[in-house]
Amino acid sequence: MKRIISVILCAAVMLCAFSVTSFAADSKKDSAYPFVFVHGLMGWGDYQIIDSLVPYWGTTAGDVLGYLEKQGYDVCAATVGGNSSAWDRACELYAQLAGTRVDYGKAHSEEHGHSRYGRTYAEPLCESFGQRDENGDIIKINLVGHSMGGVTIRLFASILEHGAPEEVAAGDDVSDFFKGGKGEYIHSITTLSAPHNGSLAADKDNLPIIDLMVHCFYYIWGVLDNTPLRPLWDIQLEHFGFTDYPADGFKGNFDLDLIESMLNSKDCAYYDLTVKGAAEANERIKMLDDVYYYSYHSECVFEGPITGRLYPELSMNPLFLLTSPNICRYDRDELFGIPIDESWRVNDGIVSTNSAHHPDGEPYTDFDASEVKTGVWNVMPLIESMDHTDYMGVFHNPVKLRRFYLEVCENAGFGA
Ligand SMILES: [Zn+2]
Repeated sequence: MKRIISVILCAAVMLCAFSVTSFAADSKKDSAYPFVFVHGLMGWGDYQIIDSLVPYWGTTAGDVLGYLEKQGYDVCAATVGGNSSAWDRACELYAQLAGTRVDYGKAHSEEHGHSRYGRTYAEPLCESFGQRDENGDIIKINLVGHSMGGVTIRLFASILEHGAPEEVAAGDDVSDFFKGGKGEYIHSITTLSAPHNGSLAADKDNLPIIDLMVHCFYYIWGVLDNTPLRPLWDIQLEHFGFTDYPADGFKGNFDLDLIESMLNSKDCAYYDLTVKGAAEANERIKMLDDVYYYSYHSECVFEGPITGRLYPELSMNPLFLLTSPNICRYDRDELFGIPIDESWRVNDGIVSTNSAHHPDGEPYTDFDASEVKTGVWNVMPLIESMDHTDYMGVFHNPVKLRRFYLEVCENAGFGA
């Protein structure tokens, strides 16, 4: 009899636990705003087949966004040009969220010599974007950006609120995105190891091998994106004219001169990633007073006990052996007139830890869970032994990674 009662009690406890878990998940879903995750350089998202094979957010550690959904969060992964400039990526992000055709702007497209319009997103990636709830309040979004995705969401938020005066002045059917006044759509911005002040790895003179690799990637992508393999992982550069996008009438023309002119222009991710490009972006970007800003920064190097020099940790992704040692021993004291001191040598493999801390010239404070402020960077404590692709889960502990993203969502949900 005792055994039967025990079994019944255990079942009841498990049922209660399950109910509590379900309630917690449901209640969180009801109270938290949706999350939009924006990938970094050469990344991918919901619209590309590769994401269903290897999710950007999780990679070898499993599907992190699927896990967050099971925890009750409303999440989606944007797909912006993997190698595009922060401007082009911000325009693509708006089109995806709103469900409309990409408008890169009349002034911008004329200045940089590409098509003004891009592909069309018939359905909004985030259904509630810009919508109001039953009380008439805007259903805001939380933006989370890894690496170049961090720069993208900062610029996106700035244009959404403050507009783009040069596009408004250019006239001719100005996109709602460039008109500004929609900052209330955003609740929070979280950057994960974003190169706010640029990356020394983008210094072509110092790291010519990276420049060579960039060219190789473009050539390979330029060829593949003019074949039926394009939907697998497309480079999204049809507006420059060298890749296909038949659904919107773009006929690609693989042309080395076109690729070269884009790579050497300022309308390219590799320019935005330089310390000069980042400084120019920082001058343009304005913070939003009512938005919560969070930044995560990490390091994955150690100081040699005898030499006193910095070296990559053994756990670092081997890919970064191309960049991290070079950053560790970087010896120039300025780039384009911007001072580079020794603190820049500490890095996560490709981004200096101090660059990911916060954008130069913007206010910041150490994160304090009891007093999170808007309109200022709430800088999370330094994460040790975490490299740049650990945020994606590459060879990372799945349990730790899920715990990390749960914390990201919980923090970003503050005040919702
Ligand atoms: Zn552009």
